[in-house]
Amino acid sequence: MSRAVSRRMLAAWLREVGVGYVLRPSPQGETLDDIRRELTECGRCPLCAGRATVVFGVGNPRARLMFVGEGPGSEEDRRGEPFVGAAGRRLDQWIARIGLRREDVYIANIVKCRPPGNRAPFPDEAKVCLPYLLRQIRAIRPGIICTLGATALNFLLGVEEKITRERGKWRELGGVPVLPTYHPAFILRNAARETEVFEDFERIARRLGLPPTAK
Ligand code: URA
Repeated sequence: MSRAVSRRMLAAWLREVGVGYVLRPSPQGETLDDIRRELTECGRCPLCAGRATVVFGVGNPRARLMFVGEGPGSEEDRRGEPFVGAAGRRLDQWIARIGLRREDVYIANIVKCRPPGNRAPFPDEAKVCLPYLLRQIRAIRPGIICTLGATALNFLLGVEEKITRERGKWRELGGVPVLPTYHPAFILRNAARETEVFEDFERIARRLGLPPTAK
């Protein structure tokens, strides 16, 4: 895909979902709780039919580092918190490598309700849910967003990229630097690629001005 095409796609996508939210601070001072309240009863896409809970997001509302995953799995759906299963435990380890704790960062997903059978969200589902994520980003104003896996990268930025090619390369969303890396569930199945994730977390730590990570 040429850079021109991908920029056009990105611009069209973001115009559609309203990236203006991310570009400027909230004039109304919208908080995460305001957004969460709106989502509690959400029935805007078919995913609401199969959910136990809306998995809104978790962490420090003033986090400098925000992670975006794909969508809740069964454990997350039951507990109402993103990344609490095996993949979440691996993510916690990566966060700890750069000297942070889960409570220091913010973690959210492209969609807030569990797709059946843990499939990736469909584009229509992602499109309906994405404005909420953009509002969360606007409320938090993180210094860095790290997308986990191809689904998060492609839906958040409105691109169609291969994660194997794009991980570790800085991008940008409304002035916020975005670093794509692998999804922890992928690493649980492909352990040999975890060194690339470690490199990506070092990039993040450097950009945040954190001390060098443990080897
Ligand atoms: N995978 C995700 O992408 N998000 C979660 O919350 C859990 C697993």
